[in-house]
Amino acid sequence: MSNYSIKNLEEYFQVYRKSVREPENFWEEVAEEHFTWRKKWDKVLSWDFSKPEIKWFENAKLNITENCVDRHLLTRGEKTAIIWEPNDPEEESLHISYKELLERVNKFANVLKDNGIKKGDKVCIYLPMIPELSVAMLACARIGAIHSVVFAGFSATALATRTNDADCKMLITADGSFRGNKTLDLNGIVDKALEDCPNVETVLVAKRVNSDIEIKEGRDKWLQPLLDEASSECEPEIMDAEDPLFILYTSGSTGTPKGMVHTTGGYMVYTAYTFKNIFQYKEEDVYWCTADIGWITGHSYILYGPLANGATTVMFEGVPSYPDYGRFWEVVEKHKVNQFYTAPTAIRSLAKRNIEFVEKYDLSSLKVLGSVGEPINEEAWHWYNDNIGKNKSPIVDTWWQTETGGIMISPIPYVTPAKPTYATLPFPGIQPALMDENGAELKGNQVDGRLCIKFPWPSMARTIYGNHKRYKETYFSAFENKYFTGDGALRDEVGYYRITGRVDDVIIVSGHNLGTAPIEDAINEHPAVAESAIVGFPHEVKGNALYAFVILKETGESRNQDNLRKEINQQISDRVGPIAKPEKIQFVSGLPKTRSGKIMRRILRKIASNDTSDLGDTSTLLNPEVVDEIIKSSM
Ligand code: ATP
Ligand code: MG
Repeated sequence: MSNYSIKNLEEYFQVYRKSVREPENFWEEVAEEHFTWRKKWDKVLSWDFSKPEIKWFENAKLNITENCVDRHLLTRGEKTAIIWEPNDPEEESLHISYKELLERVNKFANVLKDNGIKKGDKVCIYLPMIPELSVAMLACARIGAIHSVVFAGFSATALATRTNDADCKMLITADGSFRGNKTLDLNGIVDKALEDCPNVETVLVAKRVNSDIEIKEGRDKWLQPLLDEASSECEPEIMDAEDPLFILYTSGSTGTPKGMVHTTGGYMVYTAYTFKNIFQYKEEDVYWCTADIGWITGHSYILYGPLANGATTVMFEGVPSYPDYGRFWEVVEKHKVNQFYTAPTAIRSLAKRNIEFVEKYDLSSLKVLGSVGEPINEEAWHWYNDNIGKNKSPIVDTWWQTETGGIMISPIPYVTPAKPTYATLPFPGIQPALMDENGAELKGNQVDGRLCIKFPWPSMARTIYGNHKRYKETYFSAFENKYFTGDGALRDEVGYYRITGRVDDVIIVSGHNLGTAPIEDAINEHPAVAESAIVGFPHEVKGNALYAFVILKETGESRNQDNLRKEINQQISDRVGPIAKPEKIQFVSGLPKTRSGKIMRRILRKIASNDTSDLGDTSTLLNPEVVDEIIKSSM
């Protein structure tokens, strides 16, 4: 039996037990068998959560691009590494082989060097989902520069804050980007952001939309001519396993985003290992994760994890709604996608549309479906399972965070029996604990509490860039000697985990702890409801009461609202209990979301408490107009 590839439930339990009993041996075997190291480690792990300080594969030497690209040339040089699918289906897709990827990475790496970037320098990447984005990240890694990718939908202010926070001296962008039927002026946003970023010396500009942009002499340079002239040979910089690989900001759902620092060796081992098992990737498969590379999901499961396994990974520039709501399924058919990984927000928005958008396409290539980012509600789960997976492709509901680097709790498809809305079992090496409010660990099954992790895993973030104190306070201070995730979870009678929502959002009504996910789940089951969000607000009698914001499906909009309220209340009573019935139900046309598609409940909380003077950090908010509308109609 190999630790690396888990084939059935018995093997999972064996491997899991080993990973807990002898974690060092376990990870050493995984790391030795499947990766290329220039020098092996002196020690597998040293850790101290009180500082906190975590080191994996100490003194080992490697370059992650050798693992993601070079070493595949012997056996897979002509294999497609990246399939790039453009925004417009009329434009041709690109197939970049491993051999070609290496050339592109080396050329880009030489351009970085020629422009003064060296090991340890920070480079901000603000690019749309075009091949240059993947190549730029790998080029940084090739020469030991630290990339900080900022999602190219962020505003100038959000970009400037992140660029400065990460001390970037170079910025890589494009003249513009295509998203659905829109063209965004990225260069204009960059110009505005850089007014506040004095440390950025050079801006490399990729051409994508061919717009007529102003090039700032001395600062801006067109990328392509530099690439054309660069050599396609570039020796990889030899990195220490604990050298930083990248900085990436969290989504900002709960507050000011945190610049998480991920290091090289452990991150590589863990993302590769989880990718292989959680997607059951086989050599000929085509894998597609629809996330933007600007989020951790894209870093770990579009780029590093798949490439470390020599996989073919799809990179999609567009959006699910353009040219119509069948776009995802058209791409699945076109590239015969075998593993498809997306977010509940996308599933819910597609489930609202006519089913013909799905039925038009041949989805028979699909073998595994994934979900990430938020709890997936039961109705969306079934829609995904029935219509996309046709009841034959297991769904992996993967729970993890920017901070964790890789998937932590998830079914393994064809191995772990699924249970809708449950992330099920911890991945080998992951030791979850549920804690009560007093800091005691809840043992046994059928308990719920705050989700912590008791033991380090290789891809955990090592610090918040420039603010180790905040790192310690946020993750290691709530519970002694444990990493606190900020999420609440329950463990059912067989030991399966269900994430119930963020602990900050847990509402205590008349002394009962209520998670947001199970209540929203009950509301969403109503046939007229498309999506909902529950928050708490202060109440004279109950201490706290619940406030529900509900989006109706088009078909439900003509219904009598009072009747709907009654039915929704009944549904909550039946499924969760009368205690969970909201004090108020407001019908809205949209919910405030982060740019990664998550509901920003902290804003709804303010509205529910009638305290909208200061909404906090809204720089990552996608749709500010919805907020005004909700405030108006709440009065
Ligand atoms: P911030 O930390 O800045 O508030 P964020 O937590 O939204 O933002 P991410 O790191 O992108 O930033 O998201 C991780 C969070 O997303 C988890 O802590 C959890 O709340 C939620 N999440 C991710 N996947 C799942 C899942 N499969 N089931 C339930 N919740 C999930
Ligand atoms: Mg978070």
